[in-house]
Amino acid sequence: MNEILYGKKIVDSILEDVSANIERLHKAQIFPGLVTVQVGEDPAAKAYLASQMRSAEKLGIRSRLISLPELASQSVVADTIEKLNQDPEIHGIMLHVPLPRHLDSQALQWKIDSRKDVEGVTPYNLGRLFIGKPVLAPCTALSVVELIKSTGVKLRGKEVTMVGRSDIVGKPVALMLTKLDCTVTLCHQGTSEAEKLEEHVRRADILVVSVGRPNFVTGEWVKPGAIVIDVGINSVDNKMVGDVEFETAVKKAGFITPVPGGVGGVTVAYLWKNLIEAVDMQMNREG
Ligand code: NAP
Repeated sequence: MNEILYGKKIVDSILEDVSANIERLHKAQIFPGLVTVQVGEDPAAKAYLASQMRSAEKLGIRSRLISLPELASQSVVADTIEKLNQDPEIHGIMLHVPLPRHLDSQALQWKIDSRKDVEGVTPYNLGRLFIGKPVLAPCTALSVVELIKSTGVKLRGKEVTMVGRSDIVGKPVALMLTKLDCTVTLCHQGTSEAEKLEEHVRRADILVVSVGRPNFVTGEWVKPGAIVIDVGINSVDNKMVGDVEFETAVKKAGFITPVPGGVGGVTVAYLWKNLIEAVDMQMNREG
């Protein structure tokens, strides 16, 4: 079986749930609000942020972009976040990364009120994930795990190879799949330098790749019947491609996500789901 794992079914089901919740909140005169803070121009992100705002509008979410100048100082960005933390009309805050080099991204992300942290990047939310009691988890990691679950394959005892150890994808995916009783190997540049990557990929029942290099993992290495989740987003000749060589991998994998059409859309749907969780949390604590 070589099944292509499109994200659409999961997206539709999450959005149906989100819409019902927004209707519930609107009836209670609560209007979910999200703000994205961007510093400087990022032409690559412009289209993505615009489409995110259109998607919010369709769902009845109030969404706003605050664009600060390229040279904005650490304290100006921090003050902007602090004002949003205090604003009761704003339930979710996203800080668009990468930030200009003179800014300390992590220190700024950590300024976000953990109850408004819809991307799950603050120490509180990452700590909750670490102890297996997540509240607001990183959206991409949630998307990866949901796509894997959607295959219906029993996960207990499966060998997982996670390539990439970022705080928003690799590490949280490793934690979540460990909680689901998989045996996880987390790979990074050191793994490649030791010439061990191929060996780890070849024995993976579940392979997740989040590196950011086009066609980085060759399909040859994929174990027959494996579940392959490709998180990478790369542009080659103006075309979006993933980190896995799709044409060869699709012949060996049992299930494989396409790029685009796989992880990305589900990630955005989880952003809205996290926003609803954030609203409910803020209302329950304040009410
Ligand atoms: P990242 O912060 O860009 O870091 C890349 C990771 O890849 C690092 O852990 C790095 O290892 C590892 N790596 C680099 N070269 C390697 C090599 N030769 N062998 C093994 N590992 C290697 O990671 P990210 O934020 O997870 O982003 C990765 C990709 O996913 C990007 O294309 C990004 O655009 C995409 N992405 C997509 C979504 C989505 O929703 N679809 C969401 C987030 C990110 P070291 O730690 O050793 O440096």
